[in-house]
Amino acid sequence: MKKELKVQLDGLLENQGLARSIAAAYVSELDPTIEEMTEVKTAVSEAFSNACVHGYKNQGGMVWMEFSLVSSDTVMIKVIDKGSGIEDIAKAMEPLFTTDTDQNRSGMGFTVMESFMDKIKVDSKPDEGTSVTMVKKMDTYYGI
Ligand code: ATP
Ligand code: MG
Repeated sequence: MKKELKVQLDGLLENQGLARSIAAAYVSELDPTIEEMTEVKTAVSEAFSNACVHGYKNQGGMVWMEFSLVSSDTVMIKVIDKGSGIEDIAKAMEPLFTTDTDQNRSGMGFTVMESFMDKIKVDSKPDEGTSVTMVKKMDTYYGI
């Protein structure tokens, strides 16, 4: 299935809206419901903000977003940074776990990604970066 989109954008929170819009534009071709569209946008948004806030500590750095089709109705999205990386991935993915100390974060980003997408896989190495891969199938809407 060829329809790949690869974008590279600055990992700054001010670009979060753009990251959401790009995700929406890509999946809109799969005829998603409004709900599915919102779920994908929110999952991408969480992965992107993690890259900015945790990966690059709000100092900026490149974030890559790769979109592809696994089948005609299933999207695969990768959000990649070359930032700080994650020491203990399993722990980072636990609900309410956060390394943020100034009470801004609830530690629910990965939980949101897991609940909104069908599958999520995190690869990460300290000081090398993080790659979050998410897959979601859009249910066909027959218009009745
Ligand atoms: P919230 O997303 O609710 O604002 P949070 O970002 O702390 O809070 P998660 O998104 O679930 O919660 O991430 C959990 C933890 O995993 C983070 O606190 C951080 O330590 C680590 N983490 C997540 N993504 C990255 C990343 N791209 N690079 C480095 N560390 C990360
Ligand atoms: Mg987060």
